[in-house]
Amino acid sequence: MIADTSTDRADYHNVWVVAEVLSGEIQKVTYELLGAARALADARGSELWCVVLGRDIQGQADRLFHGGADVALIVDDPALENFVDEDQAAILSRLIRTHKPEIVLCGATTRGRALIPRVAVMTNCGLTADCTGLSIDPETGDLLQTRPAFGGNIMATIRCSNHRPQMATVRPRVMNELTPDPSRKGRLIVETLQQSDFTNLKTVLELFKDTENSVNLSDARFIIAGGRGLRGPEGFKMLKGLAERVNGAVGASRAAVDSGWVPYYHQVGQTGQTVQSSVYFACGISGQIQHLVGMQSCDFIVAIDKNPETPMMRLADVAVVGDLFEIIPELIRSIPQT
Ligand SMILES: Cc1cc2nc3c(=O)[nH]c(=O)nc-3n(C[C@H](O)[C@H](O)[C@H](O)COP(=O)(O)OP(=O)(O)OC[C@H]3O[C@@H](n4cnc5c(N)ncnc54)[C@H](O)[C@@H]3O)c2cc1C
Repeated sequence: MIADTSTDRADYHNVWVVAEVLSGEIQKVTYELLGAARALADARGSELWCVVLGRDIQGQADRLFHGGADVALIVDDPALENFVDEDQAAILSRLIRTHKPEIVLCGATTRGRALIPRVAVMTNCGLTADCTGLSIDPETGDLLQTRPAFGGNIMATIRCSNHRPQMATVRPRVMNELTPDPSRKGRLIVETLQQSDFTNLKTVLELFKDTENSVNLSDARFIIAGGRGLRGPEGFKMLKGLAERVNGAVGASRAAVDSGWVPYYHQVGQTGQTVQSSVYFACGISGQIQHLVGMQSCDFIVAIDKNPETPMMRLADVAVVGDLFEIIPELIRSIPQT
């Protein structure tokens, strides 16, 4: 017999965003989630809460209100200086059991991905990972959680009708922040830690930044990305020359990464990074759906391909038909060195 673990939906209210805190700063993805969650809270006629776990963070509550939150639920303690997924999961689960939110959203970041599945298990909930769209079903009030499925070939809309809260993660750069409104005010709730919040499984001894093996695709205004059309690592050297001219970062398709031409941390797409640059150059990238889901929200897309009929060429704001080995050197020559 399967136990009925459904929850009484009427007991659960409000939309929660779990903040991402890094080195004492609330990260951009939190404000993006607040932007998306504001619309959900309005559709439900409920409050939008932002839950923040960290050290010395109370001073940032006003920015959360300006960004759309009605309530900042903060646990501010020196013991939370470093992120320990087991401990944060225990605290968040306790807060969820106490306050009973209807919806919980978290960034699909490395930390969010470590944290929220634990919380889902501890609170006996479902979880939809990597959503690209969120809305409320006006008839049932259920959260409609849309994400790519079956290798990105279809978009699936998932609902969790019997259990509360409904939990979802959303990738950074997919949702839009609201324009901050300094006149918005909110309510601050401060919670304290309990002894039972700590699992004592791990202690962070030291944090260091890996500056060698990283590329800052998420903050880049210009991304110059290459695919199989670049034919090898030499093609990427040429691409890097263009990126340097415009102070941009180099991105890549999975085909280029899998061929060993560039390291994985350059990969854009479903199994790589999601980016939202001002300009995205796609050079020799055909634009399969798994790539497009990682870059289609960029403001302006320029595609260079010898085939005018590819999905990327159809999506692009400017589609340049031709041989990239002729076009890119020409572009580099035409942009003055700064
Ligand atoms: C589960 C799953 C997850 C995936 N995740 C990702 C992901 O995160 N990111 C990703 O990118 N892919 C991902 N893929 C792979 C994806 O399906 C495609 O295979 C991949 O994106 C293709 O890369 P591409 O466009 O570089 O290569 P191709 O599709 O081979 O396109 C190469 C393009 O280069 C053009 N070209 C060739 N020579 C020249 C030239 N001299 N001048 C101009 N143009 C030229 C061609 O006309 C063509 O359009 C995933 C696949 C699966 C199944």
